[in-house]
Amino acid sequence: MSRPDGFDAVVVGSGPNGLVAAVRLAEAGRRTLLVEAADTIGGGLHTLDLTLPGFRHDLCSTVLPLTLASPAFRALHVEDDGVEFVHPPVAAAHPLDGADAVLVHRDLERTAAGLGRDGGRWKATVGATARAGDPLVDSLLAPLGWPKAPFSLARYGALGILPATAVGRAAFRTPAGRAVFGGMSAHSILDLHSPVTAGYGLLIAALVHHVGWPVVRGGSQQLADALVARLRRSGGEVATGTRVRRLSDLPPAETVLLNVNPAQFVEMAGDRLPKGYRRRLQRFRHGPGVFKLDYALDGPVPWRDPAVGGAGTVHLGGTLEVIAAGERQVAHGEHPDRPFVLLVQACVADPSRAPAGKHTLWAYCHVPNGSTVDMTAAIEGQIERFAPGFRDRVLARRVTPPAALQEINPNLAGGDICGGAADLRQFVARPVLSFRPWRTPLPGVFLCSASTPPGGGVHGMGGWEAAELALRTVRPAPAPATRSE
Ligand SMILES: Cc1cc2nc3c(=O)[nH]c(=O)nc-3n(C[C@H](O)[C@H](O)[C@H](O)COP(=O)(O)OP(=O)(O)OC[C@H]3O[C@@H](n4cnc5c(N)ncnc54)[C@H](O)[C@@H]3O)c2cc1C
Repeated sequence: MSRPDGFDAVVVGSGPNGLVAAVRLAEAGRRTLLVEAADTIGGGLHTLDLTLPGFRHDLCSTVLPLTLASPAFRALHVEDDGVEFVHPPVAAAHPLDGADAVLVHRDLERTAAGLGRDGGRWKATVGATARAGDPLVDSLLAPLGWPKAPFSLARYGALGILPATAVGRAAFRTPAGRAVFGGMSAHSILDLHSPVTAGYGLLIAALVHHVGWPVVRGGSQQLADALVARLRRSGGEVATGTRVRRLSDLPPAETVLLNVNPAQFVEMAGDRLPKGYRRRLQRFRHGPGVFKLDYALDGPVPWRDPAVGGAGTVHLGGTLEVIAAGERQVAHGEHPDRPFVLLVQACVADPSRAPAGKHTLWAYCHVPNGSTVDMTAAIEGQIERFAPGFRDRVLARRVTPPAALQEINPNLAGGDICGGAADLRQFVARPVLSFRPWRTPLPGVFLCSASTPPGGGVHGMGGWEAAELALRTVRPAPAPATRSE
């Protein structure tokens, strides 16, 4: 039963984790308030007219395989709330100099056929990971403990624990096979010579075959809007334009879930946190940032290999060796001349995002945390390399450097889009080493952001696990006896 004079639960931050947590709590009967600093709900799910009227751009997340694969979103059935996931004809493409681009299709056999001598090896590594399906994904996204799929996890982990460069060279024979695996692994935003980067590559690539790499029709904001509508239907309330600086700013509630990074939590809690725990939070490290560009285009990108035009996601960087060298430079605080560029052509799957015949384009490269270097020319150089004449198609461009990302959302410290470096140490200790890292030493206060397991991406699992823990361990205060219903 909820308290008539307040809320049972307050959730601070309306990113996918905060939204999932708020919906879970409200649907379990907790009277829930969602507080958001920005004027719009959604965090990493914002869709805006960033360039010209009628061009809809996802400011942050856009390709959402983790949403489809996530146990939280599978349980929430957001499709029933009108969210439509749409798939491009080709999930991902990796153009190469002087050769055909590698195409990664949802269909494993078709992908393997395109990889020639590496087709069998793709099936034995990425295909095997994809075939392990939901039980493996659930084990990877779940809290530490006995996994649902121990054998699949052990098999995945044997390769996944290794550096992507080592697995790329050992598992694949052709430059094309190695390059496409390098591009997949670079989603980790880590030095590809470091442990666990192969694990990111395997998982990200396997998701193509397992669930596809979709976008949401109309933009990622549709997902946030559907979750907010659902929260309101369960009696939840929403306060936007309210940045929380101290826990004492919040209305009284037994449960407080914080969709914020550890540095913000330290600031909010002040001297209420035990010293040891505070020190552990202060040791949490952010990873590299991203330098983001959004374009309004007069037409599709003029790819040298026309097959790339059907791909939702395009990995630009060339060979495994060059991608790895660039990512290593970023990890060491440098800016590569030819950075690895992640590019998304959302209109290929969802033409509603631009006026007829026009296109939007989403692209970023990794940069050292807090970088102030303008990477526009470097990114456009990479696009021109594989699509000569691209610049002639540009109608308008919006530049979002790391500092602008952090200003939009204080969780994105220095432009880090993952909520903290996702290396081996912080994969296990996120933000601290614990079987239940969402719990904090403050009674009823939980962390639920991407700085908790399983980390960055739109899967909502940090919010889901924190809400489940809160539901199990915190009882709402009974209504005062004087109140008549
Ligand atoms: C440029 C970019 C591209 C990305 N691309 C993808 C992608 O294609 N696919 C994918 O799966 N993931 C992608 N991501 C990552 C993904 O968006 C994030 O990992 C995810 O949004 C994290 O969710 P979250 O709920 O933890 O927090 P966030 O989405 O960061 O949301 C946190 C919310 O809390 C609010 N907030 C923070 N502090 C306070 C405060 N003190 N008071 C009140 N409110 C506060 C913020 O304003 C924000 O709305 C991308 C991220 C970025 C930035």
